[in-house]
Amino acid sequence: MSPPLNTALPRLTLLEAALAQCQDAIFLEDDQRRFVYVNGAACRLLGYSEDELLAMGPPDIDPHVTWPQLLAGTWAAGDRRGFHTHHRTRSGQLIPVDVNGTCLSVAGRLYFVSMARNVSEREAHQTELKRRDRQLQAILDVFPFLVWWKDPQGVIQVANRESARWANLEEASALIGKTDFDLVPEDWAASYAEGDQRVISSGQVLCEEEFHPDFPGGAKWTETWRSPLHLDGDLLGTVGFSRDITDRKQTEHDLQQILALLQGVIDAFPDVLFEVSREGRYLNVWTKNPELLAASREQLLGRCLDDVLSPESAAIGRSALEEAALTGQSFGKVIRIDTPSGTRWFELSVSRMASPDNHDPHLITVSRDVTARMELQAALAREEHKYRSLVEHSPDATARFDPQLKCLYANPAMADQMGRLPDALVGLRPSEFIGTQAGEVLESALASVFASAERSTLELHWHNARGQTVCSMVTLSPEFDAANTVVSVLAVGRDISELRAYQDKIHQMAFYDPLTGLANRVLFNDRLTQMIAEASWHQHVAGVMIVDMDRFKQINDTLGHAAGDELLREAAHRLRDSVRGYDTVARLGGDEFGVLLPQVRDTESLGRVVQKVQAAFDRSFALTGRDVIVSCSIGISVFPQDGTDSDELVRHADSAMYSAKRLGRNGFRFYSKDLTATAQERLTLEQGLRRALDRNELTLHYQPKVALHSGVVQGSEALLRWCNPVLGNVPPNQFIPVAEDAGLIVDIGAWVLQQACRAAAEWNAPHQPVHKVAVNLSARQLQTPGLLPHLAQTLVDTGCQAAWIELEITESLLLDEDGRVLQTLEALRSMGITIAIDDFGTGYSALSYLARFPIDTLKIDRSFIQSVTTDRYRAELVRAILSIARCLNQQVVAEGVETLEQAEFLLAHGCELAQGYLYSRPLPQTDMAPRVGAVLTPPG
Ligand code: C2E
Ligand code: CA
Ligand code: CA
Repeated sequence: MSPPLNTALPRLTLLEAALAQCQDAIFLEDDQRRFVYVNGAACRLLGYSEDELLAMGPPDIDPHVTWPQLLAGTWAAGDRRGFHTHHRTRSGQLIPVDVNGTCLSVAGRLYFVSMARNVSEREAHQTELKRRDRQLQAILDVFPFLVWWKDPQGVIQVANRESARWANLEEASALIGKTDFDLVPEDWAASYAEGDQRVISSGQVLCEEEFHPDFPGGAKWTETWRSPLHLDGDLLGTVGFSRDITDRKQTEHDLQQILALLQGVIDAFPDVLFEVSREGRYLNVWTKNPELLAASREQLLGRCLDDVLSPESAAIGRSALEEAALTGQSFGKVIRIDTPSGTRWFELSVSRMASPDNHDPHLITVSRDVTARMELQAALAREEHKYRSLVEHSPDATARFDPQLKCLYANPAMADQMGRLPDALVGLRPSEFIGTQAGEVLESALASVFASAERSTLELHWHNARGQTVCSMVTLSPEFDAANTVVSVLAVGRDISELRAYQDKIHQMAFYDPLTGLANRVLFNDRLTQMIAEASWHQHVAGVMIVDMDRFKQINDTLGHAAGDELLREAAHRLRDSVRGYDTVARLGGDEFGVLLPQVRDTESLGRVVQKVQAAFDRSFALTGRDVIVSCSIGISVFPQDGTDSDELVRHADSAMYSAKRLGRNGFRFYSKDLTATAQERLTLEQGLRRALDRNELTLHYQPKVALHSGVVQGSEALLRWCNPVLGNVPPNQFIPVAEDAGLIVDIGAWVLQQACRAAAEWNAPHQPVHKVAVNLSARQLQTPGLLPHLAQTLVDTGCQAAWIELEITESLLLDEDGRVLQTLEALRSMGITIAIDDFGTGYSALSYLARFPIDTLKIDRSFIQSVTTDRYRAELVRAILSIARCLNQQVVAEGVETLEQAEFLLAHGCELAQGYLYSRPLPQTDMAPRVGAVLTPPG
């Protein structure tokens, strides 16, 4: 065991040794603050010897202390002080030191002990640490995003300048020591703190994107990474960084919008969209109609055009790709694909995709289904071919002209007429190939079709290549483009030379008497109508004169027909000579002549004309070597006093003539009202007719129309009968004119129509071949407004079809100038009702109008048929009518066929139907019924 150390000597020695060994400098000062002891470490620290130091005090080694300061200090024993200062070494170097001083009291005197520790190494270390901190800060400040470190309590330890900027602060240091709650709105800060806690508790890195709609200066998106921070196993808190990704987000958003748009386009796109490589490999396929693909999408991808398409289609496809790869685009190539749903056609539009290098461009291909269009084109081509071959084989000359009137196309029939090849006409104007005169006519007609855009027809007379005169009915039809302008005019010329020749012949035959060369009754009637029209327009007086030779029959019988003919010719000649040039002299039949006297001043001057006519017969006629005196009777009626229409005037002239005859021959007589009982008769008829309908006095009879070759009854004509208790059976020829004049015909006609429709419906019901019932329509009825709706209603009411009815009208209606009749007839035809011209041949202008009107049937007048087997002239006329009807595609019914010879003649010349007593008289409906569709064999 060691001895106790509480003896003075050993304790001092020990202390001294410890002080000498101590690493810190130790100074002992007396109350005058002079060093009285320094240890070895003090000498080593300051570079002074012990003796040198013992002559100094603290102001000598500490630049921060002065003697007066030091000596003014108040100290008491036991006071302790610690401070940091610097000591200056002998060489003048300043050394940082931490000083701890104590004040002691020994034997009544105060002493100071201070211990100075050299802290220069520690300071150097601290300086280094600060420098590193600054370096780190500088690095962090360079980052363009927010970086921070927070301790586990969320207090910011490190933050960079970007973070400060984000918090709207100048310096990053301003953030240190703060929490998010000091910097941002509370709800944000709470969510940050929650995020920090999450990474701390999970120990994982967390990445979040956040949207800050209220960010000052505009909404922002940020991306924030948080991670727990450990050092040597201790949790130091969290580190994080955050960056502004608003731009990226915007770009992403834009991209998404573009993609959505693209998707929308693809969804709405009826076409197939491919991305293909230049070699034709399918890289991508989009379609909403997978049935349009040659194979399923999966089968296509990665494969090549050649693997999927037919060799021809693949070749076309590849050429489109190649073209697009070279030039950027390719349009309009069409390929054929056999899809599961059948063969389809696709039009390709290819474009090169923009790529940074054009080394291996991808191509976007739109494949559009154009099957419908291709089919339409094919159908059009077929149609076009069909029509072209129709036109090419048509016997009608057909040509198309451009607005310069140059020929664009001519068919072979046209070229043949010109004696050229079709192509040789192309580019020429009409005057350059059909002769100047006809050419100019055609050119001006063409020009007016171009100008008016309306179809027109003209009759063109020209000379063909063989030198023949040709008459063509040329129809010019405008052809329009989409904007409705006339781009060309189609001319179709039908050769009607033959038709015209016939017409001329008929005209001559129909209007002139072959024996005397005078106008016949037809022409007389026509001129009469004309005369009345002119006289009423100019308010003139006009006269109608009927001249009948007395005892002609007697002469004919005694002297023979030749003498009779000679007499007629000579009489005609004298008559002609006795009147003025513009008067018309006509032979009305047999020995009856008619004279029209337009422009007479008064009745007296008429008397003078009569005298002249009579004088013509004063001289004798030389007949077969004898002089024969022949007198004549003359009757005259005067327009307007004796009548205002031709019938009336002729009838009145006629009755005046008979009256003259009755009064003794060779006289003349003017018509006067009391000449005939007509007026009274008419009145009686009119009164009777007014009640006829109500009293059921009217009936319809039907006369069969028979097919000449078979005798089969194919139709019938409804004929009105009136049986009046007082007047008896009145013939229609008597009462119908009265009914027309009195306006009763409209009601009566309506009744007739209804009865006839009812009969037609009954007879046609059992589905046999159609039995058409013909109904006579008087002019008055046709011109009554409301005919069409009434007709339609009657059809409905009676259950009769339009095709079972034919309407018979008279030729004179076709003279109508203002087109109303044409309109009505066209409307009737469009209803399906056929039109017949009754008593054909007795009118005038009908011939030239026939083609213009929608006429289905011609009924040759009974007067023609009657003499068809006895009169060569009449026979010729009937044949001509039959051939015209054939030309115009009209049916012919011969009226009033009474003999087998007539029937045979008609059959031999192509007449189809006949009506007449030979087959049947008009029959009551009950008798007609069993004859519908039956065969009627004529007797004998
Ligand atoms: P129409 O239209 O020319 O009628 C034919 C006339 O010829 C009928 O005279 C008929 O009986 C008669 N007929 C038929 N076959 C022969 C024959 O072989 N020989 C002879 N000599 N005559 C024959 P109908 O019935 O006296 O009628 C006379 C005219 O009265 C008709 O001539 C027609 O214009 C008119 N008519 C008759 N019914 C009507 C009607 O319902 N409405 C109108 N508006 N007129 C009618
Ligand atoms: Ca008739
Ligand atoms: Ca008739």
